[in-house]
Amino acid sequence: MLWNRIFRYELPTAIEFGNGSVQELAAHVRKLNGNKVLLVSDPGVQKAGMTERLTAVLAKEEIPYAIFNEIEPDPDIDGVMRGKELAASEGCDCVVGLGGGSALDTAKAIGLMLGNGGHIRDYVGIDKVPKKGTPVIAVPTTAGTGSELTIWSVLSDKRAKVKLSVGSAYNCPDLALCDPELTVSLPPHITAATGMDALTHALESFVNKATQPISEGLSIQSMKMIAHSLRTAVAQGENLEARYDMLMASLIAAMAFNPTRLGLSHALAIPLGAHFKIPHGTVNAILLPEVMQYNLMGNLDKFKTIAQIFGMPVDHMPPWEAAELSVIAVRKLKQDVGIHQTLSDFGVTEDALDRIAEEAMTSGNVPVNPRRPTLEDLKQICREAMK
Ligand code: NAD
Repeated sequence: MLWNRIFRYELPTAIEFGNGSVQELAAHVRKLNGNKVLLVSDPGVQKAGMTERLTAVLAKEEIPYAIFNEIEPDPDIDGVMRGKELAASEGCDCVVGLGGGSALDTAKAIGLMLGNGGHIRDYVGIDKVPKKGTPVIAVPTTAGTGSELTIWSVLSDKRAKVKLSVGSAYNCPDLALCDPELTVSLPPHITAATGMDALTHALESFVNKATQPISEGLSIQSMKMIAHSLRTAVAQGENLEARYDMLMASLIAAMAFNPTRLGLSHALAIPLGAHFKIPHGTVNAILLPEVMQYNLMGNLDKFKTIAQIFGMPVDHMPPWEAAELSVIAVRKLKQDVGIHQTLSDFGVTEDALDRIAEEAMTSGNVPVNPRRPTLEDLKQICREAMK
């Protein structure tokens, strides 16, 4: 850990958190001077009754709205431009994103495009956006990505089979309106995958070279809540206390990684997700224990702390053995929540690994990883995750 460097911590997003908090949506729209809302969600969120829940609140307070819900998991950049056209033609001046990372990332990008010209492709990369766009309220319905307050929109170019990330402080929503009740309808497999995504965020930020004391504290709190509550949220979807913990944990994990970036799980997850259509949380869950095993020697103390957080008996153990217990604990959590797949189950084969490793190596998550990988290292991590 380098204590002799300057770091910056910025959180442009206000947070309102609690059961029933979406009932105040209309007041928040008004506070942001919104007169007409573009409500961005996806068909699964609509089917779960979430869209209706929010439109009822808006209708009650006589705030007009248009709905854009043509969003698939790993949302395409074309959707952003279509959503922007709809918002412009409908005269919407406030965007409400409702859903998991796919809907929220799209909503954020639509908000950006309403205030900036050109195409969303022009803003791919970090800090490429000239100015703030239209106000955005993000209402998460999964507990995983933390998109409700991150700088990132992860979008897909499905024709080119690549994921493109737009990262900018202007892409942070104005408000993260977090209501754990909206996550109760998540089926166990999505609860599990998104929960493991949140864990990957907290953990990768915690051990990486860019972390700093603020992020470290947030990561520790997030990992404690996930260790305590993810199994319960999967086993008892209706358990509001566990849902509360998981939504809070994913939010806090995002606060941790927003300024630090992540590590090799995310570097590999992006090309693997793009080429093999593996859900983002699932691919992170598959990779995480293998990446941890690879990274152990880069930060033994931190991995020992993780083992402690997961209740492993680290006292009086040599550092190496104590650190290794973190891998055992995370592997066990992944199994317990029902993620038994390997990369092979999604069609990943040896002949794809050169391309996956080369694409992963270009990620900004590689330089901050606690151990500097070679292309062969990245391929070997994938091989372990194929078994
Ligand atoms: P998702 O948004 O793709 O949703 C997964 C599925 O869950 C969808 O079918 C959706 O309809 C359904 N769903 C969502 N909420 C539900 C609910 N309450 N009840 C029932 N069904 C519900 O999944 P995700 O994991 O939240 O997001 C993944 C996307 O987020 C990926 O594109 C990934 O790259 C991106 N991501 C973004 C960030 C960021 O910082 N912006 C971070 C990590 C991942």
